[in-house]
Amino acid sequence: MTDKKSAVRARQRAFAVSLMQHLVVPTFVLDPSGQVIIWNHACERLTGVPAADVVGTTNHWQAFYSEPRLCLADVLAQGRIAELATLYSEHTEPSENGYGLRAETWCLMPRLGCRLYLAVDAGPIYADDGQLIAVVETLRDMTEQKNAQLALQQLATCDGLTGIANRRSFDERLQVEWSRCRRRGEALSLIMADVDQFKRYNDHYGHQGGDGCLKAVAGILQRQIFRAADLPARYGGEEFAVILPSTDLECAHSVADRLRGKVEALELPHATSDVGPWVTLSLGVATCVPDLATGPDLLIGEADLALYAAKAGGRNRVCVAAQAASAES
Ligand code: GH3
Ligand code: MG
Ligand code: MG
Repeated sequence: MTDKKSAVRARQRAFAVSLMQHLVVPTFVLDPSGQVIIWNHACERLTGVPAADVVGTTNHWQAFYSEPRLCLADVLAQGRIAELATLYSEHTEPSENGYGLRAETWCLMPRLGCRLYLAVDAGPIYADDGQLIAVVETLRDMTEQKNAQLALQQLATCDGLTGIANRRSFDERLQVEWSRCRRRGEALSLIMADVDQFKRYNDHYGHQGGDGCLKAVAGILQRQIFRAADLPARYGGEEFAVILPSTDLECAHSVADRLRGKVEALELPHATSDVGPWVTLSLGVATCVPDLATGPDLLIGEADLALYAAKAGGRNRVCVAAQAASAES
């Protein structure tokens, strides 16, 4: 190559680097060995990490995480595509032409001291002979959009007063668990719970007092339901429900009795209750192995009957569907 040509090349390269440095999109570039060769100004602003701290090193992860892990560009540079799903729950599989990766994730941003939700693209750059010469990672701060989406999701799925799952989430989950347990031939249990003599409570302590009581009861449900697969929900008014997938009647009964005991142990005064000095719960439990012939309404109906039997039997107690049925006959 002539001196003139190489001088032109050098100018072009300097121009390209300068363009990238001033790009408004936060961008960094790795060489094939994984070392940072460009960390642009927008990336400095987004991460709070100056280029001088990372260029020439493989420490770029420190801008995003508190412990060493692969960034998206590393996944591409090191050809560790198989780890993509473990590293990023939100990601797209490499497109068919093998060009680039996309992912989204919460990052700790240690230097900033605040979490950011980043959307990340990583693209390979190849030389004319097809050799990988660099990987470019661009970042977008999606924190506001993600928080707005989470807030909307919260509004749609949680009860406004108590913060636990609302009726809509309950209906959806019960349908899902009904189908899942049917496919697996497993038992599905349901607890329906109702605050005893709550009308009197409202009359005595006022509606706001009543709301406080419902929050306290919901808090017990939330704290006392430990399995991730179980769902405590506000069914409506002063009625609550708990979905217990893959759970037999005996186990569901003991969960229900634990909830009953914990609510009583709160010792929330209920001056006008016939049941005792404190707020109490009555609970009905039903279990079935779902089949194709019936639906979740059957389980709700049976748990409701059991709850009714618990009320009729004196309140502050648990009845199971079988007991309710034999009491009727
Ligand atoms: P039982 O022991 O048979 O369950 O009697 P109860 O008084 O609890 O039952 P009832 O169905 O007669 O009364 C339920 C009361 O719950 C009436 C209603 O005003 C009150 N309630 C329903 N939703 C709310 C709420 O969101 N906040 C408050 N404070 N009260 C509510
Ligand atoms: Mg009720
Ligand atoms: Mg009630």
